[in-house]
Amino acid sequence: MNPNDFYTIRCTSCGSRNRIPAARAKDQGKCGKCGAVLNTEELFITKPIIVTDADFNSKVLKAPLPVLLDCWAPWCGPCKMMGPVFDQLASEWQGRIRICKLNVDENPQTAARFQTQSIPTLLVFDNGLLKDTMIGALPKHQIVQKMAAYL
Ligand SMILES: [Zn+2]
Repeated sequence: MNPNDFYTIRCTSCGSRNRIPAARAKDQGKCGKCGAVLNTEELFITKPIIVTDADFNSKVLKAPLPVLLDCWAPWCGPCKMMGPVFDQLASEWQGRIRICKLNVDENPQTAARFQTQSIPTLLVFDNGLLKDTMIGALPKHQIVQKMAAYL
């Protein structure tokens, strides 16, 4: 990222969006509105984050970035095929979009809550709300296209 570029990170306390210059991303920033410490470690995550029923709210609904949640299961062939794509996206979208993975077999509450009838299902969240749903295995470029609005 160019040092003059900005990251936009949501305050997990009040929900306001804060702009952080890339050059200062390593500093501990504070929310311009409420003064809470911003979760800037988020900007350096380059791998998908595993989500469970127990931490869905904190890791997805209260995330400082928009979230792409991959609902998958180990026995699902297309899910496995898409695994490397999410690894790539987590790295490519570092500091822009949080990539999360939910095993629907182990986390039936969240799967039922969002009616993930078939897998893979991709759910997009921003500021605590479900914004988009993508069903079935998709090529990477389609996911990128769909997520352009959040980058
Ligand atoms: Zn705040």
